[in-house]
Amino acid sequence: MTSMYTMQDPTTQFPRPPFPPQQQDAPGTIHTMDPAPDHGEASYIGTGRLPGRKALVTGADSGIGRAVAIAYAREGADVALSYLPQEQEQAEEVASLIEAEGRTAVLVPGDLQDEQTDIDVVAKTVEELGGIDILVINAGAMPTVDSIDEFETHTLDHVMKANIYPLFWLTKAASPHLPPGAAVITTSSEQGFTPSPSLAEYAVSKAGIANWTRALAQQLIGRGIRVNGVAPGPIWTPLQPAYVPNEKIEHFGEQTPMGRAGQPVELAPAFVFLASQESSYVVGETIAVTGGVPIH
Ligand code: NAD
Ligand code: MG
Repeated sequence: MTSMYTMQDPTTQFPRPPFPPQQQDAPGTIHTMDPAPDHGEASYIGTGRLPGRKALVTGADSGIGRAVAIAYAREGADVALSYLPQEQEQAEEVASLIEAEGRTAVLVPGDLQDEQTDIDVVAKTVEELGGIDILVINAGAMPTVDSIDEFETHTLDHVMKANIYPLFWLTKAASPHLPPGAAVITTSSEQGFTPSPSLAEYAVSKAGIANWTRALAQQLIGRGIRVNGVAPGPIWTPLQPAYVPNEKIEHFGEQTPMGRAGQPVELAPAFVFLASQESSYVVGETIAVTGGVPIH
């Protein structure tokens, strides 16, 4: 296991393409991915940057959300994990890792495309953690549609319900409970800035997330709540084999200046920074973690 704290060449720090062909059905699992993704299970070391915080992370069973949940617990936070019901097993693994740090984990499964579920997820978080200080809206769906001739209304409805509506629903439900010093963090994408041709529905949602982040940041900073986002580049998570065809999986990440895909653990420090008080003057920003692909 490479230490993420040892000074080294980042271009060779994690696996480089080609990757073996592999496909999954959404939402997918981390356990059949080859190579196995790194969520920091054995590598992330906390330094007490989120002492006693209460966090809700959506999409927390796998990928970026899993890495964020693990990092938050190692930084001293209790964490509520939101995920789809069919991801129960992976969510329980994350809960065990959080509890191994002596922190509290709360499991809040449910499909966030339904407003009442979002309200219930926040309510259970507040009830079981005794409040909420950090809201990470990270869950997302990424259907690929190669041509406008294949556009179907239900695909766009699904993307908006999964990627956009929860921004409003979760934040509205959480806002009465968020104290000054709280943080809301979104997951946008490089796709929101430089879209790929086959990801129009997804890319427009990700552009919307970055835009929402700027709007809500201006609304909520008056209450002492900071809203920021992270825009990942190509990250080795189940989202990829679940939605992207094998010919692209093989070369996944190759087109970045870095020449490789990112690992979920490489996102965690940005989410920790934006959640912690050390980013006190960072408001409405979306931080690129893209292996060198510019977003601004
Ligand atoms: P992932 O598949 O591990 O995580 C996505 C999670 O979203 C799933 O685990 C699932 O729990 C959750 N989810 C999806 N639809 C949901 C719904 N309707 N209700 C509740 N939960 C739902 O993949 P990931 O790459 O870690 O994705 C996390 C975020 O990162 C997503 O918003 C994705 O768009 C974004 N992102 C990923 C990449 C990448 O290359 N992997 C790049 C840019 C942005
Ligand atoms: Mg998952």
